[in-house]
Amino acid sequence: MIGGVIGSTREPGGYRSTVAPGGNRGAGSAGYNARMISVADAQAHVLALVARVAAPEVIPLDAGLGRVLAEDVRATLDVPPTDNSAVDGYAVRSADIPASGTRELTVVAELAAGAVFETTLGPGEALRIMTGAPIPAGADTVYPQELVERAGRVVRIPGGAPGVNVRHRGEDVRAGTVVLPAGVALRPQELGVAASLGLPQLLVRQKPRVAILSTGDEVAEPGHARKPGQIFDSNRFSLHGLVEAAGGEPTDHGIVPDLYDVLHARLRAAAATADVVLTSGGVSVGDHDLVKAVLQEAGGIDFWQVAMQPGRPLAVGRIGPALFFGLPGNPVASMLTFHLFVRPALWKLGGRRELFPPRFHAVAMEAMSKKAGRREFKRGILSYASDRWEVRTTGPQGSGILTSMTLANCFVVIDEERGDVAEGETVSVEPFPGG
Ligand code: AMP
Ligand code: MG
Repeated sequence: MIGGVIGSTREPGGYRSTVAPGGNRGAGSAGYNARMISVADAQAHVLALVARVAAPEVIPLDAGLGRVLAEDVRATLDVPPTDNSAVDGYAVRSADIPASGTRELTVVAELAAGAVFETTLGPGEALRIMTGAPIPAGADTVYPQELVERAGRVVRIPGGAPGVNVRHRGEDVRAGTVVLPAGVALRPQELGVAASLGLPQLLVRQKPRVAILSTGDEVAEPGHARKPGQIFDSNRFSLHGLVEAAGGEPTDHGIVPDLYDVLHARLRAAAATADVVLTSGGVSVGDHDLVKAVLQEAGGIDFWQVAMQPGRPLAVGRIGPALFFGLPGNPVASMLTFHLFVRPALWKLGGRRELFPPRFHAVAMEAMSKKAGRREFKRGILSYASDRWEVRTTGPQGSGILTSMTLANCFVVIDEERGDVAEGETVSVEPFPGG
């Protein structure tokens, strides 16, 4: 149950609010809080609802992409394990490097990568060595083969710098250090580093299970006949993709008609098998907005008017053991509210350290209308031109214009205190994760 008075939450350039979600239940129109809450406060409240982290599980390294480490990975060995050659050439002792002119050394052996030279390199000796092969005892410098002349067992070296072309033991990873901290989402490079430590598997967090439903008699299943007055369901599919991209495991619970008992039963069933239940539609103040009515009975749900555009109505709380988000029906609003509220919750549940995507500054290439007092999110096209980051909008910004999302590569975030943005002013942008 959400309740109590929230303190003020300040984000960089953020907005101050002391509204208590839930504290006003019933005071507003059809159960909504009369006052709006800020995006930052809504985010803080959502995160406070995520009290646990998904259980750990062991996975093989090649299944690790995008998974979140459940524990620190500490190196048990140095990488590389020995000093080794950075080039194909000749290992020598720095004492044998001539101060001027050239010097002849005797090639005592040839060493391939993976082989080891067991004895110590003596004065006047050189070892033919391949990239990656361990530097023999006594040697500390490698001449690339292009710099030397070889005749039989004799190699002539010019003067040079001592100690070059050697990759040192532990220069990549030192034994005993934490190389990959818990909470990191594994990228290809983290998988490579884990493999370089000899690890065949990793302990990661289980993927949060997310049940997705669409609500409303007006939405039809793609691939099926559409009755007059119906539109095809897009939200379930964009949300499915968003859940997967956020590292969750989506399950499809279909479209639920505007029937109280059916919706009640389907929401309960979804909550029984998932960590998070997502619905879209039915949380505004329309006559048939049943999600709200069903959830009000469930008890632990708050209905928020978030001071943002698009996507004001939002229901957040619990159904049984599952976290519940009732997202707005408008396709852009449902994607945006996922971005702002659901993904941070999934990331926290999934054990990630970073819960919000980075923001950057860009120059607005057009005037943007903006109402003070709410945070607005335009669909933006961010590009690098004339030595700076520039952003323009995708065109019409209606919250039902889903193609604005396909044209965009970022949200333009215009904070609460700002009014209209003039061309040439600086705005914040949040690039879409994954482009
Ligand atoms: P609602 O929040 O139910 O009032 O819906 C707001 C708008 O979003 C209406 O125009 C709905 O038709 C539309 N909408 C609701 N659910 C979906 C959906 N699953 N896919 C696409 N549009 C939807
Ligand atoms: Mg509806």
